[in-house]
Amino acid sequence: MRFEITTLGTGAALPARGRYPSAQLLNVHDRLYLVDCGEGTQERLRQAEVNFGRIAVIFISHMHGDHYLGLMGLLSSMHLLGRQEELIVFGPPELKEVIDVQLRASQTYLRYPLHIRPLAHASGITVFSNDHITVSTLALKHRVPTTGFVFREKPVPRKLLMEKIHLIPHFARNAVKLGEDLLLLDGTIIPNKELTTEPPLPRSYAYCSDTAYAPELIEHIRGVDLLYHEATFTEELAARAKETMHSTAKQAATLARDAQVGRLLLGHFSSRYKSPTVLLNEALPVFENTLLASEGSTFTIPQRSPFGKWSMFAS
Ligand SMILES: [Zn+2]
Repeated sequence: MRFEITTLGTGAALPARGRYPSAQLLNVHDRLYLVDCGEGTQERLRQAEVNFGRIAVIFISHMHGDHYLGLMGLLSSMHLLGRQEELIVFGPPELKEVIDVQLRASQTYLRYPLHIRPLAHASGITVFSNDHITVSTLALKHRVPTTGFVFREKPVPRKLLMEKIHLIPHFARNAVKLGEDLLLLDGTIIPNKELTTEPPLPRSYAYCSDTAYAPELIEHIRGVDLLYHEATFTEELAARAKETMHSTAKQAATLARDAQVGRLLLGHFSSRYKSPTVLLNEALPVFENTLLASEGSTFTIPQRSPFGKWSMFAS
């Protein structure tokens, strides 16, 4: 069962050679979710060989162009490709206005139902849930209202032990998978732990872009397996970070350390850094489990048992 994040674009607002603006594709149990949709996202999705029709939900963090200017093109292509399934887009309240005016001006009547749902600028609100994940919000600290997202895998049922399965009547199997003890006809109780094994731990991913250093997020992201946090600048430009309400790599690492996350993934690099290694080098002494996002890389969060250690792999 997959839980993967593909970073389609890792650049900040200004174009940089070889970098694209923010967009990420999440694959959870083979369901696809798009997070932000900067210019060129369609092309990036094509390069990643993603069928647009498989994207069911899009999350837009804020109304700065490098996070949403690719959306209209993508919506329009979905229409041209004959999409009929509904599409849900979460974003700031202004997003619907912007999309509606463009559809009206081009006299486009979408073939598929498009639901643009406004996000309140607050943390801890569950905005989306299906059989696989729940998605809740993070109130980021930026120049316009900006929302981050926490994606949490739903807990999966316990696994029945093959050697004990004959003891469990069919009608009781679901209850046992959900953790109940088994009551036999003669009154004997078999404790659940003798019939099942612990299921893998639910996995989680938090997306924080763009934001100034915001320790108030810690309670909402504590212990997530992977935290994506913007690292637009190094400490040398801390004043610029403060003024533009972005973070330095050290601040991102400090937040990751204090929230005790599994891994930190840095992105949203200023175009002034030809190579983002300088940002990685600043983060590592504060939080050693730090990785750099790069164009088109996929980061996999593997399943793990409650007692097992894990290592993330990127491809
Ligand atoms: Zn921004």
